[in-house]
Amino acid sequence: MQTAMDVLNTQFNYAVILGGGPSGLAAGYALSEAGSNVLLIERQARVGGLARTIEHHGFRFDLGGHRFITGNKQLENLVREILRGELLEVDRSSKILLDGKFYDYPITVRNALSRLGLRKSTRIVADYLSEQVRRRFTKTTAISLEDWVVQHFGRSLFELFFKEYSEKVWGVPCDRIAREWVARRIKGLSLGVAIKTAFSRAGSQRVRTLSSQFLYPPLGIGQICDGLKARIDKVGQVMTDTAVIGINHADNRIQSIIVKDAGGVQGYPGYEFISSIPLTLVVQLMNPQPPAEILQAAASLRFRDLIVVTVMINRERVTDQTWIYVPDSTIPFGRIHEPKNWSARMAPHGKTHLVVEYFCFKEDDIWTATDTALAQRTVRELSELGILEPEEVYDSIVLRVPNAYPLFDVDYIEKQQCIVEYLDRFTNLELVGRGGQFEYYNTDHAMESGIAAAEAIIARIDGTVAVRTPVLAAGRART
Ligand SMILES: Cc1cc2nc3c(=O)[nH]c(=O)nc-3n(C[C@H](O)[C@H](O)[C@H](O)COP(=O)(O)OP(=O)(O)OC[C@H]3O[C@@H](n4cnc5c(N)ncnc54)[C@H](O)[C@@H]3O)c2cc1C
Repeated sequence: MQTAMDVLNTQFNYAVILGGGPSGLAAGYALSEAGSNVLLIERQARVGGLARTIEHHGFRFDLGGHRFITGNKQLENLVREILRGELLEVDRSSKILLDGKFYDYPITVRNALSRLGLRKSTRIVADYLSEQVRRRFTKTTAISLEDWVVQHFGRSLFELFFKEYSEKVWGVPCDRIAREWVARRIKGLSLGVAIKTAFSRAGSQRVRTLSSQFLYPPLGIGQICDGLKARIDKVGQVMTDTAVIGINHADNRIQSIIVKDAGGVQGYPGYEFISSIPLTLVVQLMNPQPPAEILQAAASLRFRDLIVVTVMINRERVTDQTWIYVPDSTIPFGRIHEPKNWSARMAPHGKTHLVVEYFCFKEDDIWTATDTALAQRTVRELSELGILEPEEVYDSIVLRVPNAYPLFDVDYIEKQQCIVEYLDRFTNLELVGRGGQFEYYNTDHAMESGIAAAEAIIARIDGTVAVRTPVLAAGRART
């Protein structure tokens, strides 16, 4: 007996998915498994989006190390199945490099006290206590990242460990960054809790985002997306090196998309559409154009961009850390990782590599600096930090990653909501993913959003429940 899906499959590219990162691929996977013929369009040569792994002369690296953590057992099982059980359990050990000293990250009270000395430590604790007293008598709402961290850790600790790093990541002052980012990352943690746990038997307990172990595919995070693509390929089509350049709509339905590849421009009609490309771009690509206020909201939402400089080193191993955070504003990059500490298969025998993250905007001089200048500067800074000797570096590669982080300034929610409400009128369009929903999603959240959209579409077509995915509600609930 033919199902509703079979009938539609013969008439259309039943589901058209915009973007082949974890969210788009997870949606495509779920729809393919349900029997839908899926067409997925990806602008890059390879799928994976921000969660792809680059291969370079025997070295492999993520665009900033991507650990996989999820509290969703079903999703974890799906990832295990996709990777045929090949998933490493990696111990996390990260440090903050400040004034030539390594501090534990997450900050541990004993480690911080031993390195900061009695005077600074006393000031930190006194500041924290006075903040607690102040809060008891004056009710204040934390709006910005600065408000939130000062309330939870006191001003001295904020200035020492959080201010410079957060401003490096976001490129705007901490009183302009929405508290959501830091509040979600270190939910449940405060100096009070850290002091209590440091001196209690539960000292080793950590909150989820700072967990001491994580999962990692042996050949890099990109293995997950490659595995999802292989499953879609069996029944659907994934077109890479193809950019969506237009979205046609009428009567509150998306009718077709216009794409551009090496062969030219063409249109693809569809019945259901899932978009994981940046929310701001979707609005710009709409034909007919959305109202001016929607275009304005999209123009005022920004993404932070990223440059990844990877240097190849003639040494077995350089560090023993998962990540090294570098808050110092005089050093141009913010984070370093050595992929070999995540999986031994990420570098050839006897050699290693360091992946260095520069947070920036496309308008910054650093974005247009030459690859040679960026590589030379990276090696010089790493050498001055005492991490390597310049003579050990024999190769490098520079990658520019646009739209790496949705920028959560203190009034982003209104603009995001205004766009989402406008797009909500399209009854056959689902928004998914980090850029697609403008949410601070990790890989697991992005995949969940894709699967939820696929399930909503399947339910719609089966006529079981006429639902849309609760885009904003899902995003807000994240930790
Ligand atoms: C530096 C860094 C470190 C991170 N670390 C972690 C970590 O440790 N753990 C973790 O779980 N997550 C981590 N993340 C987050 C993770 O990368 C994202 O959550 C995830 O990749 C989001 O998936 P997505 O599909 O929503 O979006 P994306 O990965 O951004 O995918 C969107 C896709 O759409 C494509 N696209 C855009 N425009 C077009 C167009 N016009 N036409 C066609 N295709 C288009 C893009 O090329 C891209 O492939 C990190 C992110 C960054 C930047």
